[in-house]
Amino acid sequence: MIQEKRHDAYQQREKLPEPTVCIKCRAMFQAGRWTWEAAPLGAYTTICPACQRVEDDFPAAHIEIHGNFFKERREEMHNLIRNTEKQEKGEHPLERIMTFAAEEEHFLVTTTGIQSAKR
Ligand SMILES: [Zn+2]
Repeated sequence: MIQEKRHDAYQQREKLPEPTVCIKCRAMFQAGRWTWEAAPLGAYTTICPACQRVEDDFPAAHIEIHGNFFKERREEMHNLIRNTEKQEKGEHPLERIMTFAAEEEHFLVTTTGIQSAKR
């Protein structure tokens, strides 16, 4: 189940100047999107929405996985979650796992974006 939370603070209110680089994760905003390309010298600086969520401890989504299926496929699901993050984060710098609690009876995952949670 995905519980979607929206908060205006993380929506871009005004257009960022380009290029802008996040001082925490080095993601760069250019041509209207965030990428992992290296920022040129003299780029503007900011804290990207994903890092801001981590700093505020305010996830975009919570995912809880439990039940019989979970118990049978625990390891597989663990790998699936990690691989999905790797893929999503590679293509979309704002899609990250914030916390991943692998408990005996369930996994509890929080993310900085909605897309990775849905996947
Ligand atoms: Zn960042």
